[in-house]
Amino acid sequence: SYEEDNEDSADLEERPPVITIMGHVDHGKTSLLDAIRNAKVAHGEAGGITQHIGAYSVEQHGKLITFLDTPGHEAFSSMRARGAQLTDIIVIVVAADDGVKPQTRESVKHAQEAKVPVIVAINKMDKPGANPDMVKAQMAELGLNPVDWGGDVEFVGVSAKAMTGIDELLEAILLQAEIMELKANPNNMAKAVVVESTLEKGRGPVATVIVQNGTLKIGDNIVCGSAYGRVRALISDRKAQLQKIGPSETAVVVGLSDVPPSGEILMVMESDKEAREFAQKRYEYDRHRELSH
Ligand code: GDP
Repeated sequence: SYEEDNEDSADLEERPPVITIMGHVDHGKTSLLDAIRNAKVAHGEAGGITQHIGAYSVEQHGKLITFLDTPGHEAFSSMRARGAQLTDIIVIVVAADDGVKPQTRESVKHAQEAKVPVIVAINKMDKPGANPDMVKAQMAELGLNPVDWGGDVEFVGVSAKAMTGIDELLEAILLQAEIMELKANPNNMAKAVVVESTLEKGRGPVATVIVQNGTLKIGDNIVCGSAYGRVRALISDRKAQLQKIGPSETAVVVGLSDVPPSGEILMVMESDKEAREFAQKRYEYDRHRELSH
């Protein structure tokens, strides 16, 4: 899916999967994202205070999994519209007591159109009215056949509230990722996608990125649309200062001249001059397009 075609396959290494959680309102997308983050700590980082930066990684048996921390399909769709297909696997959350609803169907449609594999998390299993078989039957009608019914889609019962089934869900994600053989070249100059950005007092423009290929390091000359700069800091959702992030990893980048829109591509350039010129060309191009519309 990523820039694998023009890479020498000998340079490619396994990379973590990037996950988007979708599903009907109130079925527990936000709760599940919080439960996963609170249950697992990535990179041996100390626990404690986390900040919402738009993405985070957790570690399961020594393997990383990166989650887009913006539930729903809007972020997914806006990134896809910009040509940035970040998501490797979609987890569709369905409340066990409520079953398939309009936004569940929409999520299934999004996944099918984008040809992204799905794992179904049947949430709220702690509720007395939980009916996982109903969910399976309804999802099977939409073409998502459960593995235990002879199909190829993993369904995992979870409770974001009681914190059950989280390990099983992460195992299912790693299994799916293994089948997909996701690869990237960590030795390249980085290419990343902006998932969230803002102007911060003191820090200036900051952008949360997920690296698609290569490794992003402190000191790298970067360009991001018409913004440019040098990586001054890389900060994780646990406020750790990182020296570098590899493929599928995420951090807040400090050091851009401007706030880039989400979905924008961030690239490392050989020199400061090159980054500046690239950004200037992009600025003129955008301005020209604005004027001619
Ligand atoms: P979202 O709209 O899909 O992001 O759903 P939320 O995460 O905001 O959850 C909606 C409501 O369902 C909240 O009141 C949650 O506390 C509740 N909820 C979420 N997960 C569970 C669960 O596993 N069990 C129960 N009983 N309630 C849950």
